[in-house]
Amino acid sequence: MLYAPPPHIADMIQTIRQFLREELYPLERIYIPRGFKGAEEALAPLRQKVKKMGLWAPHMPKEYGGLGLSLTEFAYISEELGRSVFGHYVFNSAAPDIGNMELLLAHGSEEQKERWLKPLIAGEIRSCFSMTEPEHAGSNPVWMSTTAVREGDEYVINGHKWFSTSADGAAFTVVMAVTDPDAPKHRRASMIIVPTDNPGFVLEANTPVAGHVGEGYFTHGEVRFVNARVPVSNRIGEEGEGFILAQERLGPGRIHHTMRWIGIAERAFDLMCRYAVQRELAPGDPLSSRQIVRAWIAESRAEIDAARLLVLDTAARIDEQGAYAARNEISEIKFFVAGMLQRVLDRAIQVHGGLGVTDYTPLAYWYGHERAARIYDGADEVHKMVVARRILREYEKHVS
Ligand SMILES: Cc1cc2nc3c(=O)[nH]c(=O)nc-3n(C[C@H](O)[C@H](O)[C@H](O)COP(=O)(O)OP(=O)(O)OC[C@H]3O[C@@H](n4cnc5c(N)ncnc54)[C@H](O)[C@@H]3O)c2cc1C
Repeated sequence: MLYAPPPHIADMIQTIRQFLREELYPLERIYIPRGFKGAEEALAPLRQKVKKMGLWAPHMPKEYGGLGLSLTEFAYISEELGRSVFGHYVFNSAAPDIGNMELLLAHGSEEQKERWLKPLIAGEIRSCFSMTEPEHAGSNPVWMSTTAVREGDEYVINGHKWFSTSADGAAFTVVMAVTDPDAPKHRRASMIIVPTDNPGFVLEANTPVAGHVGEGYFTHGEVRFVNARVPVSNRIGEEGEGFILAQERLGPGRIHHTMRWIGIAERAFDLMCRYAVQRELAPGDPLSSRQIVRAWIAESRAEIDAARLLVLDTAARIDEQGAYAARNEISEIKFFVAGMLQRVLDRAIQVHGGLGVTDYTPLAYWYGHERAARIYDGADEVHKMVVARRILREYEKHVS
């Protein structure tokens, strides 16, 4: 079998699957309707339990308290954690923290690692990432108004961002701000750490999404930077490197996200099949006997399996050759898996009938919130354009 997990990962998967089934699935039905604040309390002892099990922050190197997994190895784990709404959070490998951890690990100064990275990995603080602005198309990331003007040893930051996921309760954000408006467009911006207790950091609102304004970790913050002063040493990497670092942050990030989506699809698939055989349309006549339901099950199985192969192949390529060599595949998995997820969730909800749109299963929650999968991390259309452009460029060379 292509891409079977290596034995040590297969063992980990079994342990995680059991943990999710016993500890997290029962909490979903209680806390999805109630919100994150209540869940946070219930999940805190489970996070400690995960630490004791030696499975904490599996994507981080061992010397930082993680498991030192390669991208491909963590991809399998990310799928498994994706099966529960709370999986990644409880194992401290949830976005946006995971992206910021990887960013700081690769490009943070020693001081930044001490002050921000270590407590983030320990799960003592949370973080967010502020790039998208309401006034500009996020699909054109070089177009932004937020500025960081240097005054002596400080940057003075002004700007307006939204969709800073998990800003509510975060200890810091990594903001993307223009540091040199006259530089070539991909060298204009830098990434700068702004602590959220900075007087110039204002969380204006949690933006309501799919009927939920959210709480704490499960929020999308609208944020304003009003003369936020931070030391120059809060910049990550060199001045003007913001877009280069953003691309780096997004490469492995797409593996994490798409494998999480595959985990969600697997759970939806499991719920769909269980319900189809158990729900009777008349005594002795289960829903699963209907041809259309069987077609949905078969199509979903094939689509999930195809998606997993594509993502694992991309992860292996990144591990072996780096993100740049795999840039086409990284774009392909983004839209391919997001589309698959939406179709599988939709079929699973349809099979559940009215129950499917309640919060008695996680399906409706995911359907509402993961619709965004086709938008964030680069809208699907942008990735399709990029893939097609590269392919056609080769053909165009041969047009006489
Ligand atoms: C749930 C969620 C979480 C997010 N988290 C974060 C976060 O933590 N930090 C952060 O900074 N941002 C975050 N974002 C923002 C996200 O990155 C942007 O929404 C995304 O980049 C798209 O930008 P936009 O919303 O401005 O849409 P626009 O750029 O205005 O695009 C609108 C639509 O136009 C179409 N389109 C765009 N470009 C093209 C093209 N070239 N060809 C054809 N069609 C096109 C697409 O269908 C797209 O959906 C999040 C968004 C969501 C929904």
